[in-house]
Amino acid sequence: MSDKPAYQVLARKYRPETFADLVGQDAMVRTLKNAFAADRIAQAFIMTGIRGTGKTTTARIIAKGMNCIGPDGQGGPTTEPCGVCEHCVAIMEGRHVDVMEMDAASNTGVQNIRDAIIETVSYRAVSARYKIFIIDEVHMLSKSAFNALLKTLEEPPAHVKFIFATTEIRQVPVTVLSRCQRFDLRRIEPEVMIGLLTRIAKAEQAEISADALALITRAAEGSARDATSLLDQAISHGAGETTADQVRAMLGLADRGRVLDLFDMILRGEAAEALTELSTQYADGADPMAILRDLAEVTHWVSVIKITPDAAEDPTIGPDERTRGLSMARALPMRVLTRMWQMLLKALEEVAASPNAMMAAEMAVIRLTHVADLPTPEDLVRKLKDATPPPPSVSGNGARMAPAAGATQAISRTPAPTHGGPSGPSASTAPQLATEALHHYARFEDVVGLIRAHRDVKLLVEVETGLRLVSYQPGRIEVHPTPNAASDLTQRLGARLQAWTGNRWAVIVSNEEGQPTIAEVRDAAASALQQLATAHPLVQAVLAQFPKARITDIRTEADRAQEAASDALAEVEDEWDPFEDG
Ligand SMILES: [Zn+2]
Repeated sequence: MSDKPAYQVLARKYRPETFADLVGQDAMVRTLKNAFAADRIAQAFIMTGIRGTGKTTTARIIAKGMNCIGPDGQGGPTTEPCGVCEHCVAIMEGRHVDVMEMDAASNTGVQNIRDAIIETVSYRAVSARYKIFIIDEVHMLSKSAFNALLKTLEEPPAHVKFIFATTEIRQVPVTVLSRCQRFDLRRIEPEVMIGLLTRIAKAEQAEISADALALITRAAEGSARDATSLLDQAISHGAGETTADQVRAMLGLADRGRVLDLFDMILRGEAAEALTELSTQYADGADPMAILRDLAEVTHWVSVIKITPDAAEDPTIGPDERTRGLSMARALPMRVLTRMWQMLLKALEEVAASPNAMMAAEMAVIRLTHVADLPTPEDLVRKLKDATPPPPSVSGNGARMAPAAGATQAISRTPAPTHGGPSGPSASTAPQLATEALHHYARFEDVVGLIRAHRDVKLLVEVETGLRLVSYQPGRIEVHPTPNAASDLTQRLGARLQAWTGNRWAVIVSNEEGQPTIAEVRDAAASALQQLATAHPLVQAVLAQFPKARITDIRTEADRAQEAASDALAEVEDEWDPFEDG
């Protein structure tokens, strides 16, 4: 035991030796200093806090302060232990005969407590001023062990001090607590932690980038010991500056910027891009589970800063990410964020249960892209405004939270104006229909759109499959019915169009062959699309995995936009967002 070991782990090497070294625990340090200065050192202390906040370290510093005699051997109790006298050195090395460290987690029996404490307290300290018992995880003591301890605490000899540490203060009996001076060790604030890590890195002459330190700080969640250990691993990784990428790889994290990219793609409904990004991150070593967890974390973070923008001011988050987070928080309705969160929680369960995590993650991402299918309320309002004179409440954009919120309310609470009495389109039809003029039906497609907007599915199917268009002009349609078409189809079509538009429509049966039906055109397009889709590498991969799989439905961007618009209309009618309600 002569030479110091050549290499010491940083967590031990930079373990605080004095109160001045203790970072982030200013309140406790101040109280202790005052108590020592006034010569009112408590009989027993109890320190509580999460792991790694320095409870046992603090206990040792207090023990040193109590027993330190200074470099000249003449000193008294102090909050600035010298660190060089025999007592300081022995306590620091954990071998002082009068300072007993016990771990209740491994030593819970009454017998041990009796042996170790009750019987030894009656003897004076062997060499030092005080006999000090440091009991870690004191909440683990059995009830009878606490009772034994309590007897000593009730009538403590003047030369005995107790220092307890616990992560579970609520499990410590009140009878014990009431006899202790209690300190709550706080999680170390990110700014303080970054400062600490910077100092250590400097002392080690290790180069590490600021964003790498930020990542470590975030991962350590307020524990100085964890942070120091992570720093140790990070800087031993390689030569030269340690980068954020290296730390990310070490922690198994995806690049936060890329997590935000993925989040963005999902919310824009870009399924193909999102899948590509997911597989790239996977190829770069990110775990599918971790990616989804990161997405959940981002969802939570964006939700929180939507409510409290100040929350974005976190030193562990880079300025670019902060800006992106803030703009996402402004753009995304809380409704979308909460749904995203719920779906991600579900996805995490599925990925955990799936024999192929990546496949489950891909399915989850595909599903998530539909969260964003809904156009924003602002888009809807803009469309409505283009087509109709806005009701007064829509024109006022002065809603406090966001214009979108106010506008959404206006849509649902004020029925959109209807036109032309009972035959006018209902409030929920597409905006371009909100007029009687025939020139709005410049093409046959517009007529089909009108049928669709009125959700007359039977008529729609009949028109799409049963009519070959011969000629078209607004108000006059010439068709050649297919053999399967109902004989009264043209008559019914004319009647419906007249009811909906308020204009007379002539639907004339022609002997000319006409164009293919809408359904035939679509089928041809679909089979082309099917060929295209089948050739897509992703689909190929799925088909390779599942030889019996068949493509049953292909949805294009246009389909999606259409569905999204009708979904969204239904949405604003029945769903309220309490956060945006003001
Ligand atoms: Zn000393």
